[in-house]
Amino acid sequence: MKIDLRNLSHSYDVKVLNDINFNLKGYKSVAIIGISGSGKSTLLRLLSGLETPTKGKVFINDSDVLLSSYKKSIGFIFQNHNLFPHLSLLENITIILEKTRGHKKDDAIQIAKKYLDLLKLSDQYNKSPRNVSGGQAQRASIARALSLNPEIIFMDEPTASLDPILTYEVLSAVEDLKVLGKNFVFVTHVLSFVRDFADYIIFMEKGKILEHGKPDILDNPKTFSLKEFMKKVK
Ligand code: ADP
Ligand code: MG
Repeated sequence: MKIDLRNLSHSYDVKVLNDINFNLKGYKSVAIIGISGSGKSTLLRLLSGLETPTKGKVFINDSDVLLSSYKKSIGFIFQNHNLFPHLSLLENITIILEKTRGHKKDDAIQIAKKYLDLLKLSDQYNKSPRNVSGGQAQRASIARALSLNPEIIFMDEPTASLDPILTYEVLSAVEDLKVLGKNFVFVTHVLSFVRDFADYIIFMEKGKILEHGKPDILDNPKTFSLKEFMKKVK
């Protein structure tokens, strides 16, 4: 995928992203790391077009991310699964396929099952999100995002509310998605997953991209801040 950030700034009451210029081409799985409050979630929301920057522009694969055509081509996985609690895992997916993509019911069921199977939920189709583990619910939300056939999947700390075992289940299921050939941009504190899954890493500090490169920057950090970060997260 191609990422092009031009004079990108974003403020809430204070400046959160500070005049970022950044170009990247040819990577499929980009991890954004950094301490809490460094601006990772804000950057991810701007990359996905969920939020409009205060200043500057974001282009992904040569498209302005604020275009509705781009927004239809991406999926976003949040920290919490956001499934409808009153619907089964299967219905959570079919309803979206029917309502937003105009699929017929049978067709929607077939697509939903395909992605639930891929996320190892074949035996959980008819369960409510309340009656499955947090990891299973999060995997179902990943299946839901995938069922819309996005070109790029954004994930913001998808396992932050899970224990280590469930985290492992979710992240190893995501690793298996490599075969789909999708693009991923994600924020996580699980460095073992970053090492296994990312082919490029962006390290943020105080609203800036301080250091970036292939995963070996984790072993040979150039900046003092990334060195310190690595000591803390290990
Ligand atoms: P990270 O994901 O790296 O923890 P964020 O992008 O969430 O960082 O936040 C960066 C800074 O912006 C933090 O100081 C945070 O408090 C602030 N911030 C984030 N979202 C909002 C918001 N919706 N309103 C006000 N301030 C926000
Ligand atoms: Mg965040």
